Amino acid sequence: MRNVLIIGSGCAGLTAAIYTARANLSPLLIRGHEAGGQLSLTTLVENYPGFPKGVQGPELIEMMQKQAAEFGTEFQEGDVTRVDLGKRPFVVEMGRETIETRTLIIASGASAKMLGLESERKLLGHGVSTCATCDGFFFRGKPIVVVGGGDTAAEESLFLTRFASEVSVIHRRDQLRASKIMQDRMRRNEKIKFIWNSTVTDVVDPDQGYVTGVKLKNVQTGEERLQPTEGVFIGIGHSPNTGLFKGQLEMDELGYLKTHQGSRTSVAGVFAAGDVQDRVYRQAITAAGSGCMAAIDAERFLEAGE
Ligand code: NAP
Repeated sequence: MRNVLIIGSGCAGLTAAIYTARANLSPLLIRGHEAGGQLSLTTLVENYPGFPKGVQGPELIEMMQKQAAEFGTEFQEGDVTRVDLGKRPFVVEMGRETIETRTLIIASGASAKMLGLESERKLLGHGVSTCATCDGFFFRGKPIVVVGGGDTAAEESLFLTRFASEVSVIHRRDQLRASKIMQDRMRRNEKIKFIWNSTVTDVVDPDQGYVTGVKLKNVQTGEERLQPTEGVFIGIGHSPNTGLFKGQLEMDELGYLKTHQGSRTSVAGVFAAGDVQDRVYRQAITAAGSGCMAAIDAERFLEAGE
């Protein structure tokens, strides 16, 4: 029987581990298949406080992991396959293994949706990015493309005009899904160009190890062409990793876990932190902060013997 079980090894889960381990609660952290979360998918992180020269995302995660281990966090590889939150202690299953826990901290994150191209996967972190705030700076003075037509693509493309010489927004239809106000801002911005009715069929050039362009297909005419660019931002949305909790925890219409009074979910003793419950800020520092909140909430819950 565990006091605290944490699902997820991004900065929310690791911060929750540091705090609960220091509170002598001997947490067990299940790392999941995207171990390290979104920070481990990026390169230089320049907006995490305390690193005036920046820090590599994977290195930051590794340091947090060491810090959590230092205070006695136990780590377990693998994925949770089922949870039962209907009675206490909660039951968490990993294949045939069953773990019981008094409290559960869910920090399973959100995964950026990708186009699903092999070349896109190979060049992630080398010109392909899902985070303008993280990587926009590297494309100062260069032409870049953003894929998508919703608010994420709008926000990313507007942010990227600070750095890029030109931002081409590639959308599969001829109308944006983004809110009117964001559409107006995009249209007023001289650096933003639109490529309508087009999909990205390939990112070149994985053999060189960096991006030189994207292959586009016009979905109406079938015409194919190459759009030269050094940066490709995929802005087609994120999905919270909450499939395991459907029917057991309250979620909003997009599947993000609902929290109240700090990190509490709809089930007493279950707490949520990081991107799994945040569709607004989605930053490393806010995820870490909410991991701390979940740890303190779990500790108080155990102390109160609720
Ligand atoms: P979204 O509204 O679902 O839009 C996703 C966009 O990507 C759509 O334009 C969609 O095209 C396109 N898309 C999806 N899959 C694609 C694929 N495989 N290939 C090419 N294009 C694809 O997602 P979102 O933009 O992340 O927004 C999610 C929610 O968060 C929304 O409610 C949004 O308002 C909110 N949000 C708000 C803000 C803000 O207010 N500042 C910022 C970010 C997000 P179609 O249009 O053809 O479906």
